Amino acid sequence: MSVLIVGTTALDSIKTPNAENPRLLGGSASHAAVAASFFSPVKLVGGVGEDFPKKYVELYRRHKIDLEGLQTLPGKTFHWSGEYELNMNNRRTLATELGVIETYSPTLPKTYQTAPFVLLGNIAPALQHRVLDQMQRAKFVVADSMDLWLNIALPDLLKLLKRVDGFVLNDSEAHQLTKEDNVFTALKKIHALGPKYVIIKKGSHGSILSGPKGFFICPAYPLHKVVDPTGAGDSFVGGMMGYLATAKGSIDSNIRRAMVYGSVTASFCCEGFGLNTTTKTKRSDIEKRVKELEKLTKF
Ligand code: AMP
Repeated sequence: MSVLIVGTTALDSIKTPNAENPRLLGGSASHAAVAASFFSPVKLVGGVGEDFPKKYVELYRRHKIDLEGLQTLPGKTFHWSGEYELNMNNRRTLATELGVIETYSPTLPKTYQTAPFVLLGNIAPALQHRVLDQMQRAKFVVADSMDLWLNIALPDLLKLLKRVDGFVLNDSEAHQLTKEDNVFTALKKIHALGPKYVIIKKGSHGSILSGPKGFFICPAYPLHKVVDPTGAGDSFVGGMMGYLATAKGSIDSNIRRAMVYGSVTASFCCEGFGLNTTTKTKRSDIEKRVKELEKLTKF
């Protein structure tokens, strides 16, 4: 089964204490789509400008991502630049240039409208609504977001939470949304806003799921060196949705393992700038790390 993924298709300029890389392929949808493509067919929804490099379109193609829903629009591609502190956890946004995204309104090709799995990646909630409005019989819909939308589009985001099965956010966003310091109380409060499955990401400390079968604590793969964590959250949720789309059985029986696969896919993302390492990763590399995590967490 395929996963439809909407989000930003961006150019990222990333600065770390050790290096600086301009105009890499990035965006929430790019990271999530490449991650999901290890497991299932992916249909990408996004808008890029005329300056979007052809080599990045080729890269999507190499991952067999369906690009019928990727529109090239007059203007510039969404450009984000950010800088990491020495600890590689704290990040500062230096600039967000919306470009074509400012007026973009996704129109789904017919073949996309029946995709059973839908990932509403990080983008303006109004655009996430617009995609959902065009879907016919989605089986499982998960949304991601960020602090910016909590600040400037909260009413739209709250409406979206009533329409999705799952919501993924990081711990600081969960605090911002619920004003709760305790992660388990925050999970409960977010369920009350609509989603049946809530996942709070805690960066290098893994993530916590709260769902109909209770809690699950998902580990992060222990990395000794992080080169660039940009897109790790998107890779996590993309990998998870890709795994769920091909796994046999119910969401409840697969979601824990799907999170582990997402977590491992995200670990490769952190080992290189942008998508540099993720795109060189093989499915067998992922399987190896999943086995290692299995051993590390067995007791
Ligand atoms: P993450 O590291 O998982 O938070 O995701 C970083 C990615 O989000 C980068 O590739 C950016 O291009 C993208 N991004 C940054 N700001 C925004 C925004 N306002 N809306 C959507 N995507 C964004």
